[in-house]
Amino acid sequence: PRPRVAVVFGGRSSEHAVSCITAGSVMRAIDRSKYDVVPVGITLDGEWVLEADEPALLAVTDGRMPSVSAADGQAVVLLGSSSRGSLVTLSASEVPHTLGEVDVVFPLLHGPFGEDGTLQGLLEMAGIRYVGAGVLSSAVSMDKHYMKMIFQAHGLPVVPYAVLSPSEWAHDRSACAETVASLGYPVFVKPCRGGSSIGITKVSRPEGLEAAVELARTYDPKVLVEAAVESARELECGVLGSLTPGALPEVSVVAEIVVDPSREFYDFDAKYVSEEDAKLIVPAVMEEGDAVAVRRMAAQAFAAVSCEGLARVDFFVQPDGRLLLNEINTMPGFTPMSMFPRVWAASGVEYPELVDRLVQLALQRPTGLR
Ligand code: ADP
Ligand code: MG
Ligand code: MG
Repeated sequence: PRPRVAVVFGGRSSEHAVSCITAGSVMRAIDRSKYDVVPVGITLDGEWVLEADEPALLAVTDGRMPSVSAADGQAVVLLGSSSRGSLVTLSASEVPHTLGEVDVVFPLLHGPFGEDGTLQGLLEMAGIRYVGAGVLSSAVSMDKHYMKMIFQAHGLPVVPYAVLSPSEWAHDRSACAETVASLGYPVFVKPCRGGSSIGITKVSRPEGLEAAVELARTYDPKVLVEAAVESARELECGVLGSLTPGALPEVSVVAEIVVDPSREFYDFDAKYVSEEDAKLIVPAVMEEGDAVAVRRMAAQAFAAVSCEGLARVDFFVQPDGRLLLNEINTMPGFTPMSMFPRVWAASGVEYPELVDRLVQLALQRPTGLR
C-alpha cells in the first residue's frame, strides 16, 4: 500500500496564511502514484479539521490570503499507535470514528505551535514519524534568544543582541532603554519567536523604542533587540538531510536577497506581497571561496541545533567581508517561489523531488530517541 502522508497546515501563528499557501504547493507537487495524501488543517483557534484535497483552495485568490476554517471540514484528532497515527473524529455529540491511519506527518506549519517543537512533541509522544527537525531543535531554532546562545556556544558569529523579558519591560523600563542604547542605534526589535518579518521594526532613535517593543510584544511577550548590521548583504542557503545513512547533510548553492532601497529591510511585503521589493539572486554572485565559507557555516549551524530533515540558514555579510549568522529556520517558506525550493532547484533538486526526499527521510527515521 502507498504510505499515507498527513499534510498539516494553517495553525495558530501569525504565519497561518503562508502555511496554507505552502500546503497547497506541496499537495500539488507530491507524487500521487507513490503517496496518499490526507490534508489536515489547523484553524487559528487551534482546531484540527480534515480538509478537502483541493490544493487550488489553498492559494491567494483575488488578493485574499487563504485560511483554515472549522466549517471547511470535519474535526479530527491525531492519535498514535506504535509507528502509525490514527486520524479520529471526536466531538461531544459523536462516537469517536476512525478515519484511517497515517504513516508520516508533514508539518507545514510556520511559527509558534507548529515550527517550535510543540507539534513535534505531540508526534513523538504518539510515536508517529514526521518531516523535519525534532523537539529540541525546533524549539531552539524558533526562539531567537536560545538560537543565538547555542550558536555562540559553538563559536559561530552572531549579531550583538539583548533580550527584554516581560518582567524587565514591565518593571524596569529605564534599564531596558540602557541595555538597548549599549548596543548602539539603529537596532532591530523582534518578537523572539516569530518569522516572516512579522512584528519586526528597525528603530533609529531611542524615542522609537517603546512603540517597536510594544508591537513585537503583540506577537511574543519576549522581545529580542539586535544591533543593526548596516549596508550588509543578505545571503541564504538550504540544508537537506541525506538519504544515505550516516552521510552528512547537503548544502545548496548560496543565494542573495537584494531589497529595494525604498524598503528598510526584507519585511513581510517584500517576502510575500510585492515582487519588486526584493530580488532573489540564485546563485549569489560571489567568490567561490566565500561561497564555500557560507556553506560550511550553514552546515555548522544545522549541526549546532541538531537539526534534521531541512533548514534554511540566513547570513549577513558586513562591508568588510565578515560573515554573521542571522538565523536558522527549521520550516522555511516552501512555496515554489520561496527561497528554499529555489536554492535547491539551482542545486539540481526540483520541487517534487524535494518533497519526495523530505517524506522519504521521515519514513526512514526511527521513532524514539535518536
Ligand atoms: P524572521 O525570522 O522574521 O525572518 P529575521 O531576524 O530574519 O526575522 O529578520 C527579518 C529581516 O530583517 C532580515 O531578513 C533582514 O532584512 C532584517 N534584519 C533583521 N535583523 C537585522 C540586523 N540585525 N541588521 C540588519 N538587518 C536585519
Ligand atoms: Mg529571516
Ligand atoms: Mg526566521
